[in-house]
Amino acid sequence: ITWTEDAGWHDAEVLPYGPLQIDPASSVLHYGQEIFEGLKAYRRPDGSIVTFRPEGNAQRLNDSARRLALPELPQGLFVRAVQELVAIDADWVPTAADQSLYLRPFMIADEVFLGVRSARRARFLVIASPAGPYFTGGVKPVAIWLSEHWARAGHGGTGAAKCGGNYAASLLPQNEAAEHGCAQVLFTDAETDDTIDELGGMNLFLVRSDGTLVTPELNGNILAGITRKSLIELAQDRGHAVEERPVTVSEWREGVAQGTITEAFACGTAAVITPIGQLRTADGRDIDFGDRAPGSLTMSLREELTGIQFGIRPDRFGWLTEIVPA
Ligand code: PMP
Repeated sequence: ITWTEDAGWHDAEVLPYGPLQIDPASSVLHYGQEIFEGLKAYRRPDGSIVTFRPEGNAQRLNDSARRLALPELPQGLFVRAVQELVAIDADWVPTAADQSLYLRPFMIADEVFLGVRSARRARFLVIASPAGPYFTGGVKPVAIWLSEHWARAGHGGTGAAKCGGNYAASLLPQNEAAEHGCAQVLFTDAETDDTIDELGGMNLFLVRSDGTLVTPELNGNILAGITRKSLIELAQDRGHAVEERPVTVSEWREGVAQGTITEAFACGTAAVITPIGQLRTADGRDIDFGDRAPGSLTMSLREELTGIQFGIRPDRFGWLTEIVPA
């Protein structure tokens, strides 16, 4: 679907997957005016297909659009585009209980000019790709790496938007994490080097011994994860207190040493919940849960959320939208 300044959104079409024709002077290729989303379609045991909270992705896309000076897309159009693609690709939604169809909506600025200003032409597209389970052979706690030198985003930057540029900036630290045997990089606030923002592609939660969940607040630097929001609602519904506030690595380290922080996990669409067993740091002051990870609250939240998504547990919050195959 195409957007132009005079005509708005128009010319929606569904095409077989294939290369995209794009002019070499398209603004997205030079100034990174691009945003995207990620969500999944799941097949329930009765064969029906659902998507998980697509309205949340539609809303977040528009938040990103405003920051990147791209046109907003009416929520109904976003949801319809996703639903129509899934309906056409219904046979591609895996039947195995731990697999899904990953959906990648994205918007690019494709006006042809060489100059630094926001484009007057854009395209919105959705592609789909089957996704296997994140963990093969059971859920295992992962190690994550504390990035010392690199920030993902700074105050007033694009950290809260889901734009390609943020991920470009996180690739080098992510490689550093991998070199240290870690699954993800943990970013802290560049000013304090201690206040936690988020991971390369996930939000972070700590669990206190009294069952309270603690997670960095939406401070303008981090992505408002749909999984994060869902887990907050789920935990609160179960009677857990949830604190959204600044969280520091020091607090985490002291809490583990004193036994007041008992679990840590990362969350996002891809892996839903990943238990964290260890935070590795360049100065060797690692935080280690040892054989206490994965924690019981981490695993029970994971079981309920994946249960809802795959239609094994009741959808008691009305998070699922059923897709009618084309
Ligand atoms: N933070 C970042 C940087 C991410 O890329 C993601 C994945 N989209 C998340 C958090 C988690 O967001 P969600 O739960 O919506 O997948």
